[in-house]
Amino acid sequence: MKADPAVQRRLLELADVDAELGRVEHRRRTMPELAEVAETEKSVQAKRDARVAGETSLADLDREVKRQEKEVDAVRAREDRDRALLADGTVGAKQLTDLEHELATLQRRQSTLEDELLELMERREAVELDVQHAGVELAKAEEALAEAGRRRDEVLADLDTTQARRDAERTTLVPSFPEPLLALYERVRKNKGIGAALLRSRRCGACRIELDRSAISRIAGAAADEVLPCEECGAIMVRTGESGL
Ligand SMILES: [Zn+2]
Repeated sequence: MKADPAVQRRLLELADVDAELGRVEHRRRTMPELAEVAETEKSVQAKRDARVAGETSLADLDREVKRQEKEVDAVRAREDRDRALLADGTVGAKQLTDLEHELATLQRRQSTLEDELLELMERREAVELDVQHAGVELAKAEEALAEAGRRRDEVLADLDTTQARRDAERTTLVPSFPEPLLALYERVRKNKGIGAALLRSRRCGACRIELDRSAISRIAGAAADEVLPCEECGAIMVRTGESGL
C-alpha cells in the first residue's frame, strides 16, 4: 500500500486523538469516583436500615408502655373500688377481711407494675437516643453520598468535554485519509489498540519492539510513500527524521 508521507504523518495525529479517546473510555470505567459513590451508597443503606430498626424498636416499646399503663390504671381502679367499699362501712366482717387482703395484693401488684413501667420508659428513652443518633449518622452519610456524586459528575463532565473535543477532531481528520489506509489503520487499532505509531530510534512506537538490522535496512530502502506495518504488532510505522534510519 502506498500513501503520501504527509498523509502518513497525519496518522500520528489521528493516533493521538484515538489514544486520548481510549484514555477517556478507560477512565470512565475505572474512575475511583464510581467506587466511592457505590461505597457511600452502601453506607447510606446501612445507616437507613439501622434507623428503621431503631424506629421499629421504639414503636414496639411505645406499645408496651401503653399496655403497661393500662394495666396500672386497671389495678388502681380496682383499688379505688375496694377502698370505696371499705369506706362504705356496709360490708360484713368476712368481706372486710377479703377486701383488705385483696387491697394489699393489689398494692403489691401496682408497685411491681410501676417498677416495670419505669424500666420500660428508661429503655424507651435509650432507644429514642439511639434513633436520634442513627438519624444524624444517616444525614451525614447522605451528605457524603451527595458530595461523592458531585465529584463523580465533575469528573464525568470533564471527560465529556475532552471526548467531545477529540470526537470533533477525529471527524475533521478522518476524511483526509484515503479509504484503504484508514481501513488498515482501523483494523489494526481494533485488534491491537494502536493503529499507527512513530518509528523512533528503530523502535515501533506501538509495541516498542526494536527492529533488527535487516528490517531497518528494508525500511530504510523503502520508498517514502510505502506504507509499512510493523511485523510484530501490525501498526503502521510512520517515518520521520526521528526514526533513526
Ligand atoms: Zn509494533
